[in-house]
Amino acid sequence: MTETAHYLPAGLPAPLDEERVNAPYWQGLTQGVLRVQRCAACGTWQFGGEWLCHHCHAFDPPWVEVAPRGRIFSWERVWHPVHPALKERGPYLAVLVELPEAGGLRMLGNLLGDAMQEVTIGAEVEGVFEHHAAAEVPYSLLQWRRT
Ligand SMILES: [Zn+2]
Repeated sequence: MTETAHYLPAGLPAPLDEERVNAPYWQGLTQGVLRVQRCAACGTWQFGGEWLCHHCHAFDPPWVEVAPRGRIFSWERVWHPVHPALKERGPYLAVLVELPEAGGLRMLGNLLGDAMQEVTIGAEVEGVFEHHAAAEVPYSLLQWRRT
């Protein structure tokens, strides 16, 4: 997927991943690819990244590419900004998206479009990659929009 979003303003800190366990995830986002872990030994899906499988404790679960498609599991309309760069940005929508094609993993993002739109639990969404290439530490995020 090559489409990009520009939902969040400049000035936010880049996501921290000091132990680098999620490096394949963040690198994938910069390339327009969503990666999550799937244990090679038992097939368990997991996200965020861990050094071992939660189910069978095998080390280094590999990262696999999955389609950025899911459905809204939960959501919140945020009125109070969580960072000074978002001071003029509210309200905005935060969504917890479930990925049926990846064992039901859930991940957070923003729902693109009108912040006052009606949001429905179970609504289908697709990922949109948001690139912050001009940031002090360049990074990309995965946002969501209704299909
Ligand atoms: Zn496992």
